[in-house]
Amino acid sequence: MSVPDFSRLTADNIVAFLGDIFARRGAESYLGERVTMSEHMLQAALFAQAAGASEELVVAALLHDIGHYTNEFPEDALEKGTDTYHETAGAAVLSRFFPEVVVECVRQHVAAKRFLCAVDADYFGRLSEASVHTLALQGGPMSEEEARDFAKKRHAVDIVQVRIWDDEGKVPGLETPSFDDYAPMIGRVVAARGANLSGAHP
Ligand code: FE
Repeated sequence: MSVPDFSRLTADNIVAFLGDIFARRGAESYLGERVTMSEHMLQAALFAQAAGASEELVVAALLHDIGHYTNEFPEDALEKGTDTYHETAGAAVLSRFFPEVVVECVRQHVAAKRFLCAVDADYFGRLSEASVHTLALQGGPMSEEEARDFAKKRHAVDIVQVRIWDDEGKVPGLETPSFDDYAPMIGRVVAARGANLSGAHP
């Protein structure tokens, strides 16, 4: 089989590119959790789907941790994505191809954890051990003022919802659809963003 050339990412090859990352790197462990990276992201997408989420939010859940793989992205995608924070890096590499709501859900999934810790007394108790550990490194729960500001952000409800599916996606052995099953949906979400862009800038 020939090696695909992803030296330049386009709207036409981004889905295959992401699929290639899932296929080659998905089995890596997910930072101290009992599921792999791809199991985790596929489970988050499955929980989104089970909740009847829009395709944009299912795709956001599926790709929320893609920033752990930014060393896979060609240089042109990385100019703004070299941030060592995986959520910022993930948003930067997706922002060329995906609608704003997807990008913001990825960018803010860590902030959403800090938000939920501040506003939902039960939420902290449901976090996995690894997630509690990283919370401290990520700045701990938001202050009341930070939480108030966060709640006013564009897409705040969607961002928080994707975070909840993220937290749910840590079930050892749970069967999910594969990345390939989601590929047509990802393609539609990319195409919708393209259509909006050409509509906005005639
Ligand atoms: Fe995650």
